[in-house]
Amino acid sequence: MPCPYATTWLLIPPVPLQMTSPTPFQPHAGIEVVPGVGPRLGAVLGRLEIRTVEDLLNHIPMRYEHEHAESTIAEIDASLPEEEGAAANVSVRGEIAAIKIPPGRRPRIEVTLEDETGTVQLVWFNAPWLRNKLRPGLRIVAEGRAKRWRGYLQIGNPQWRPEDDDDDQTPARDERLRAVYPASEDLSSRKIEEFVSRILDPASEALMDPLPETIRKSRVLNRLGQAYRHIHQPESPRDAADARRRLAFDELLLLQLGVMMKRQHLRETMKAAPLPLSPEIEKRILSRFPFELTTDQRQVCREIGDDLAREVPTNRLLQGDVGAGKTAVAVHAMLLAAAHGHQAAIMAPTGILAEQHHASISRMLEGAKVEVGLLTGSTPAREKKDLLARIAAGEIKMLVGTHALLSEGTVFNDLALAIIDEQHRFGVEQRSRLRRPNEAGRVPHLLVMTATPIPRTLSLTVFGDLDVSVIRNLPPGRSPTVTRVVPPSKAADVYGYLAERVAAGEQGFVVVPAVEESDMGLADVENHLKFLAAGPLSGLRLGAVHGRMKREEREAVMNQFRDRSIDVLVATVVIEVGVDVPNATMMVVEHAERFGLAQLHQLRGRVGRGKKRGVCALIGEPTTEEGRRRLEAIGGTTDGFEIAELDLGIRGPGELFGARQSGLPPFRVADLIKDLDLLRLARQDAADWIERDPRLLGPDAVEMRRILMARYGATLGLGDVG
Ligand code: ADP
Ligand code: MG
Repeated sequence: MPCPYATTWLLIPPVPLQMTSPTPFQPHAGIEVVPGVGPRLGAVLGRLEIRTVEDLLNHIPMRYEHEHAESTIAEIDASLPEEEGAAANVSVRGEIAAIKIPPGRRPRIEVTLEDETGTVQLVWFNAPWLRNKLRPGLRIVAEGRAKRWRGYLQIGNPQWRPEDDDDDQTPARDERLRAVYPASEDLSSRKIEEFVSRILDPASEALMDPLPETIRKSRVLNRLGQAYRHIHQPESPRDAADARRRLAFDELLLLQLGVMMKRQHLRETMKAAPLPLSPEIEKRILSRFPFELTTDQRQVCREIGDDLAREVPTNRLLQGDVGAGKTAVAVHAMLLAAAHGHQAAIMAPTGILAEQHHASISRMLEGAKVEVGLLTGSTPAREKKDLLARIAAGEIKMLVGTHALLSEGTVFNDLALAIIDEQHRFGVEQRSRLRRPNEAGRVPHLLVMTATPIPRTLSLTVFGDLDVSVIRNLPPGRSPTVTRVVPPSKAADVYGYLAERVAAGEQGFVVVPAVEESDMGLADVENHLKFLAAGPLSGLRLGAVHGRMKREEREAVMNQFRDRSIDVLVATVVIEVGVDVPNATMMVVEHAERFGLAQLHQLRGRVGRGKKRGVCALIGEPTTEEGRRRLEAIGGTTDGFEIAELDLGIRGPGELFGARQSGLPPFRVADLIKDLDLLRLARQDAADWIERDPRLLGPDAVEMRRILMARYGATLGLGDVG
């Protein structure tokens, strides 16, 4: 579905699919044309998102294996080092000797597999359906990582298939690599391999190659058909790698083309209100601030000012680590818009943060004529109605709010500047919503701010249409927060230290993962508060905030904390972003292993915002290797950029800024970490192409444009493809 706010500037007629050879396996043919696929398997394939021949071609193998890599159990035993935990990838064949389903919270199935040389234990977690598929006496082939565990040889969550499955499969292709596909309970990788092999040659022949010959040659890339043949049936690892490179290049190029096309268009056709910064305005604005702007802040204000002075709509990303002072920069720009008689709005990801921005901006503007409105999800209906009327009439020049700003009912009279705080929470689509033209056909300038630094890799892709400004240095008198990872057994010491700091007149936060009591055994706000009040922090004034409280209650508690009538605030991650209480110097995070790295970095940014050095204690006991690495990483660096890259490396971009947050479909092949060099090449080629042919209307662009519209047309607002 096209995005309702997408500009319909590229009315591109649907392009008929081009055919180069008459085969039934045309890319868009339904999957039932594949011999052997009937209605039942068609449905099963559908669940893997494979509905057409092209989808099947795009079902990319996860990895490859050599055909005859099986070992006996004794060989595995001999090959593994003695110590527990050492692991190796193996494939074994044997008979199920016993099945056990031990009681316990986490559903688990243990199978003893036997061959002539010994036994190995296979363990599956959370796979209850296996109960009906496995039985003693069944011969199977299992693959996975084998390790020693409590005296046994064990393979955790192995891939497996009944031995009989081998009968109907494609004949073994000796010496070749064999693709291992993402499969499902009802459809094995082998079966998928078989379907692919039935269509691969004619279907890959029938594909139109969207990449101009010149780019393909200069980047030394496979032809498209060859890439598909080799990704599915490589002769060598080199073949597979080359094929992967070509397919990844296409994906990266496509996104770059989309992003640049959009940007180019915006520059050419959309106009914003020019907001020049005269010396008088500058003086008036600066006199509002209770402090001198830092060199970085002034530099960034200048960059933004240069943008805003022009009719070309600004599209800028402001990066600055937590505490860097981005709010002042935002207010500077908003005051500039107000000085020219236009409206400006800032959108925050949470109600608390919006309230706080509102409070600090109002304080700053005390005595001035400018009125600052606040619109959040919890603004009472009557107040809201009145507010919306005054926004529409242009009486309110500066507005602070949450997502509510994006709703249909919020109509500005003359919005000249929109600022989004904490960018990563808002997707591409939200950005284009804010870009709705007003009656005069003008769009607002757009500034997005993020404290979670966007890793370079991502700023080149998803956010590739933004100019970037960076605040590198913290305001004077700050030193980075000291972080310690502490096991739960030492929690009492941590709270003892917190009590000392409170006795010295400082304040602190305790962050817990849950709002309410859960069956996971996690600390929740209410119970943890009771626990602290009765024990480690007895006698201190404690308060609680979480996302389920009413706005007034929450605001009241935050105000008490701000004016120091609360010493320690027990909270959920609602305080993650932006909360600014300079007297708070210590933070304790319970169950730290449950939080993301970027999130922990944000959290600790809440302390040490005044003159005193902040301390952050992460209480946690990671049970996995990954968890341990994460906590070590956060303890070891205070550089937000490094943390963002680490988070990306550990969790993958999918979780951090993936489809969900960006609103864009995920890559199938490209990997933003591994393919950074390729991304640079694709970016260069996209820039050249768009410069030469800004709307991709040339004859060499027909197929690329079709694919681009199909994939990104709606999310990027590239126009209605009809
Ligand atoms: P963030 O970049 O995380 O949004 P804020 O804008 O909340 O940071 O600023 C962090 C703190 O630093 C606030 O208390 C703010 O008042 C203060 N601050 C910002 N700029 C300066 C400055 N130039 N001099 C002194 N303090 C500043
Ligand atoms: Mg902020």
